[in-house]
Amino acid sequence: MNRTVTYRIQHAGLAIGKHDFRFDLESGFFSSLDERFSCATLVSDMVMEKQDRLLILNFHIHGTLELVCDRCGGDVTHTVDSHYELFVKYGNSFVEESEDVIIVPEDSGELDIDQYLYDFASLSIPTFCVHPDDENGESTCDPAVVSLISNIGTEEFTNIENN
Ligand SMILES: [Zn+2]
Repeated sequence: MNRTVTYRIQHAGLAIGKHDFRFDLESGFFSSLDERFSCATLVSDMVMEKQDRLLILNFHIHGTLELVCDRCGGDVTHTVDSHYELFVKYGNSFVEESEDVIIVPEDSGELDIDQYLYDFASLSIPTFCVHPDDENGESTCDPAVVSLISNIGTEEFTNIENN
């Protein structure tokens, strides 16, 4: 993985209670993530609740992705608005206990959240994305491409959509 940006939280010196963070997920952050989109404008707001022996991280990832429509090949803007939670406990060494629970060494005052921002952002990218329908329920895809597709047999179209 070849990311140009690193996101770290210094949590050792923070008081018990809630702390707000904001991370701009620049396009460089996504360079190796997915070649399906050309531009990403995503922000992760994070509230970290520090307790005596536990950190609770609440991520709100929001913004837009410029994707290529899977139906007509045109540009389509996808809005992201997702919430994720991560629990950080203290232990002897780093362990990923489950998808949303990690254990970090007792004496580590710093938390590297690159991987988690990356994973959460990945989850926010739809596997299939097409232009939305307008208020009349009509597709807003490029009509020229759509009419071309509708001239292909239904069977072939199904094959294309499944590939
Ligand atoms: Zn389209």
